[in-house]
Amino acid sequence: MIKFYNSLTRQKEEIKVENNTVKMYSCGPTVYYYPHIGNFRAYLFMDNIRRVLKYNGFNINGVMNITDVGHLTSDADEGEDKMLVASQRENKSPWEIAKFYTDIFMNDAKALNIDLPEHIVPATSVIDEMIKFVQVLLEKGFAYETSKGIYFDIAKFEDYGQLSGMDINEKLAGARIDVDDEKRSPYDFVLWVKAPKEHIMQWQSPWGMGYPGWHIECSVIGDKYLGEHIDIHTGGVDHKPVHHENEIAQSNSHYGHKVVNTWMHLEFLQIDGGKMSKSLGNLYTINDLKAKGYEAEVFRFFYFLAHYSKQQNFTFDSLDMAKNTLKSIKNLASEHKNGEAVVDTSAYEAEFLESINDDLNMPRAIATVLKMLKEERSKNVYATLEKFNTVLGLNLEEENQIPAEVQEKAEARWQAKKNKDFATADALRQEIDSLGYVVKDTREGYQILKK
Ligand code: AMP
Ligand code: ZN
Repeated sequence: MIKFYNSLTRQKEEIKVENNTVKMYSCGPTVYYYPHIGNFRAYLFMDNIRRVLKYNGFNINGVMNITDVGHLTSDADEGEDKMLVASQRENKSPWEIAKFYTDIFMNDAKALNIDLPEHIVPATSVIDEMIKFVQVLLEKGFAYETSKGIYFDIAKFEDYGQLSGMDINEKLAGARIDVDDEKRSPYDFVLWVKAPKEHIMQWQSPWGMGYPGWHIECSVIGDKYLGEHIDIHTGGVDHKPVHHENEIAQSNSHYGHKVVNTWMHLEFLQIDGGKMSKSLGNLYTINDLKAKGYEAEVFRFFYFLAHYSKQQNFTFDSLDMAKNTLKSIKNLASEHKNGEAVVDTSAYEAEFLESINDDLNMPRAIATVLKMLKEERSKNVYATLEKFNTVLGLNLEEENQIPAEVQEKAEARWQAKKNKDFATADALRQEIDSLGYVVKDTREGYQILKK
């Protein structure tokens, strides 16, 4: 029996589904910039849920959106469209921006061995469906038109605020006057925006040329691929108070009943005890970690060391700890692979299962793995570890690893290059070459490949 914490009911609940298939929706990336390791904590969380469900014998029908239109620089309806800001910054079309950053996202996800959803759907691929969905909300009286667009009327949705536990009436009483006096309430949010002529991304609609609001895509993509009942919906905690409240309001009003059963939210990754931000220079990508000598898999393993519902603090010291523990797991695994002892691993199996099924208690599951690996060297241990590894998703075959010596030389070469010491950099490149590896420069750092 799997129990996951449901943010909506604020308790751990057993996962029960029809036909043994879990319908799962995950809020996906906005493809306007390099995804950072905090974003990937959210997708490792999704991966974690998927693999644990599969370990328990469930099938999954999973969906994730790619936001390539409509997400403004604030989660509410303020600021500029993130895609347009990127398009101006890089002098490319929004379509080129979306492709470039979607490819990077997919490459990093692959490097992290993330078990991706069955359907990955760009928002711009469902414009017609979004228009129809908004029409239904208008017809049912949940939405209204202004000179700027179509808005959801939150006064018509009784449960607004339930997920994040906010009392909307109290909030309204303290709210500042909205700059838009056509809106009935400052918390009404936009479903469809009437676009000014100069806006690059716009589509024909019954309300003239325009583009969708951000929240509508998740309701519509969920509806198109999963229908009117969704078992599990995931996202970061930042999505709770605006994006997910709005999604619930849209979807439940559209159908006249609750659509999502279990809401699961991931707490944020912090860096050196604080927020990550571009201006602080601490926004690391998977490639940045690679350039510093940490394979993507080390970050994958790092994810397991804190519970998803708690903030996780990233420091290079803690990443080193993860790296060393991972290394020792791999070394022990290779010793067990040919071990002759006979070890009964059933108690470890039971403990591992109990932990993962108890709201994804991965730190405890990893403790069980480490305890089991201390057993006398045994093929049974290796076989059980392989089974656990369907959840962990690690590369247990040490041969594929880049040797530490090569990694160190590549890092020294990178530093030399940064210091404009090209002679040393070239010499190191040759040394790496003679060890059977090539080092390639990339946009954000370097990559080491086996020759
Ligand atoms: P975005 O691409 O900005 O829409 O965000 C993609 C996902 O990353 C969302 O689910 C966010 O909740 C999540 N996210 C953003 N920053 C962090 C962070 N520091 N730690 C964990 N998740 C994050
Ligand atoms: Zn979403």
